[in-house]
Amino acid sequence: MSYKNFPMVPRVIFGRGSFNQLNDILAPKRQSINAPFIYLIDDVFKNTPWLTSSISLSYDDEIIFVSTKEEPKTTQVDALVEYIILKTKARPSGIIGIGGGSVLDLAKAVSIMITNEGESKDYQGWDLVKNPAIFHIGIPTISGTGAEVSRTTVLTGPEKKLGINSDFTPFDQVVLDPELTKEVPKNQWFYTGMDCYIHCVESLNGSYLNAFSKSYGEKALDLCKEIFLEDTIGPSDTEAQEKLMMASWHGGMSIAYSQVGVAHAMSYGLSYLLGTKHGIGNCIVFDHLEEYYPEGVALFKEMKAKHHIELPQSLCAQLTDEEFDIMISVALGLEPLWENAIGKNWKKIITRDKLKALYQKM
Ligand code: NAD
Ligand code: ZN
Repeated sequence: MSYKNFPMVPRVIFGRGSFNQLNDILAPKRQSINAPFIYLIDDVFKNTPWLTSSISLSYDDEIIFVSTKEEPKTTQVDALVEYIILKTKARPSGIIGIGGGSVLDLAKAVSIMITNEGESKDYQGWDLVKNPAIFHIGIPTISGTGAEVSRTTVLTGPEKKLGINSDFTPFDQVVLDPELTKEVPKNQWFYTGMDCYIHCVESLNGSYLNAFSKSYGEKALDLCKEIFLEDTIGPSDTEAQEKLMMASWHGGMSIAYSQVGVAHAMSYGLSYLLGTKHGIGNCIVFDHLEEYYPEGVALFKEMKAKHHIELPQSLCAQLTDEEFDIMISVALGLEPLWENAIGKNWKKIITRDKLKALYQKM
């Protein structure tokens, strides 16, 4: 047996208002006056002075606002890297990602591609990255994906939606300031929060489970139950903001040493074909997975009802057989997820017809 030797985020600062210490964190990391810090910030914050006024730009530092209408693409990463390389006098001192899973993943991918040749699509997979990334910081503004701790950056490429999984992917520094999540819209709060809940259910019910993953997964699951089933008002509840930020972290740690399962595999299919975003896509799929996660789905339905969340229906009603085939192929391609969820002989149990019947319900 050969055990995986995973890197972890080496530095993390946690606390309400900790974002204000960003300038102190960055100062010693500046390589030279020609080596700027590049901020990638979700463009939802374009007119949000309470966030942007805490950032002080020096020399050639630059803020690039990025749209998160669509999830990150390899072409988007390559264009950003080209822009940065052409614009800067020296290799940047660091990349700072401020946003949800989409922007965090973009920041990770850009920091890797600044030091690695070619196109980002060539690095989608496991351990294909050759050179260490430049210094990169992740600052989540919505909680749930675990992208702030994970060893992957999920990108949609020309052929597949797959992460760049590597030892160089994790952030060098993370800033966890729950206050940054205070204006997340309720529905999005639920969808991204449920990503964390589903990470826990899939990890804890998978065949890859071990004591490492279990300890993190159980803690994150307990926090999710407190947040989404007890007296939380919603995303503006300060205690819930703090709990969900830590749940996201623990959920991410749990899957680092195990794997996700059926909901993620099928949601990748929806995302690839229809562009359905990760959080809501997971919810749409998970709602129909009683057969695989009976307790997890029952609790999910309770949470959904408590927060008056209505999921889109009949997403797949108009699809052609060819389109179903594309989604099914994408989902089945994620072999480790199925092996974790169903076991070694999953191919005998999960047939194309079975997946088609499930997709037809969505
Ligand atoms: P997101 O980053 O796409 O953000 C969702 C929406 O919330 C966007 O409209 C964004 O503008 C808005 N938003 C974010 N912060 C806000 C704030 N403070 N106030 C108001 N609005 C805010 O969504 P997400 O669910 O965080 O991330 C999904 C992405 O993460 C997907 O691309 C998925 O593939 C990826 N992901 C990555 C990992 C990983 O380990 N790398 C894990 C899970 C998911
Ligand atoms: Zn997820």
